[in-house]
Amino acid sequence: MLRSVILAASRSGKVEKFVGSAPVSRDVVKRFVAGTGTPDALRVTRELADQGLRSTLDFLGEDTLTPEQASATRDEYLTLLAALAEAGLTGAAEVSVKLSALGQAFDEDLAEANARAICAAAAEAGTTVTLDMEDHTTTDSTLSVLNRLRKDYPGTGAVLQSYLRRTEQDCRELATAGSRVRLCKGAYSEPEHVAYQSALDVDKSYVRCMNVLMAGQGYPMLATHDPRLIAIGEDRARWFDRGPGEFEFQLLYGVRPEEQRRLVREGYQVRVYVPYGTEWYGYLMRRLAERPANMMFFARALASKK
Ligand SMILES: Cc1cc2nc3c(=O)[nH]c(=O)nc-3n(C[C@H](O)[C@H](O)[C@H](O)COP(=O)(O)OP(=O)(O)OC[C@H]3O[C@@H](n4cnc5c(N)ncnc54)[C@H](O)[C@@H]3O)c2cc1C
Repeated sequence: MLRSVILAASRSGKVEKFVGSAPVSRDVVKRFVAGTGTPDALRVTRELADQGLRSTLDFLGEDTLTPEQASATRDEYLTLLAALAEAGLTGAAEVSVKLSALGQAFDEDLAEANARAICAAAAEAGTTVTLDMEDHTTTDSTLSVLNRLRKDYPGTGAVLQSYLRRTEQDCRELATAGSRVRLCKGAYSEPEHVAYQSALDVDKSYVRCMNVLMAGQGYPMLATHDPRLIAIGEDRARWFDRGPGEFEFQLLYGVRPEEQRRLVREGYQVRVYVPYGTEWYGYLMRRLAERPANMMFFARALASKK
């Protein structure tokens, strides 16, 4: 219930204005977002790399409405990739891209062309791109763009969401050699006919999907903070004899940092999803929706009028 209210607020311009102008927002945002520009992204990548953690960098922004905005987002990624290469950090970092930020909502071909330019720059810099997954109305479009990009850039990563009923089948189709697949639970508010509604069903689906990916030929990227699912991931790695370099765990910047370091100490490959930029509102609201305690933390901070 609280989750749906917060996710509805993530689409409200009025709430965005209120939250965006509250001074305390900056403190809360800092916990989940690296900063506003490329230098912040580089600084955090370096800090994480010093702790043995890899990164996937996300320039914040979604639901782009004009070709100009879409080109500006593409150019931000090109600048970031050049800066990563210059700083010698492409071994430690890749990029995550939302097709909606590249124009998917009004022109799929344009979004694909922008994504292709980012993939080309990533390949030249010696790293990869993962296409984030958004709400279920975009899944088919995103997977078909992915398939076309993979013909030229086979390392391009996909994201599948275990809350969607279709995902186990999508996992089967994508568990092929060289295929990088991030498995997450899913962060949007989805209707019953396409998505499991109970946490238990979403978790059970996650385990079924994980089994398919870990048993398959591709490179699974297990994106979750859920202690039970992480433990099952560790178990499946042993069962399917996957060493470091044959799968990875992924967690969000600012979420369970101690666990991130524990996994590194255990010898696993771990990647942190690091968002940066000024368009943090939708991202922050999805993080608050995931955990009521985060919402309480935010509400208390707002109430204290700091
Ligand atoms: C690397 C990465 C990439 C992702 N990419 C996508 C994507 O492309 N598309 C998409 O729809 N979703 C994406 N997500 C979000 C994902 O779908 C979930 O919404 C999110 O990860 C929460 O689910 P969970 O698996 O951590 O389990 P949950 O059941 O939500 O959480 C399990 C436990 O983890 C901790 N926890 C979880 N979230 C938080 C939080 N925000 N703050 C503090 N503690 C928390 C809590 O202890 C909680 O009890 C991504 C997640 C990760 C980690």
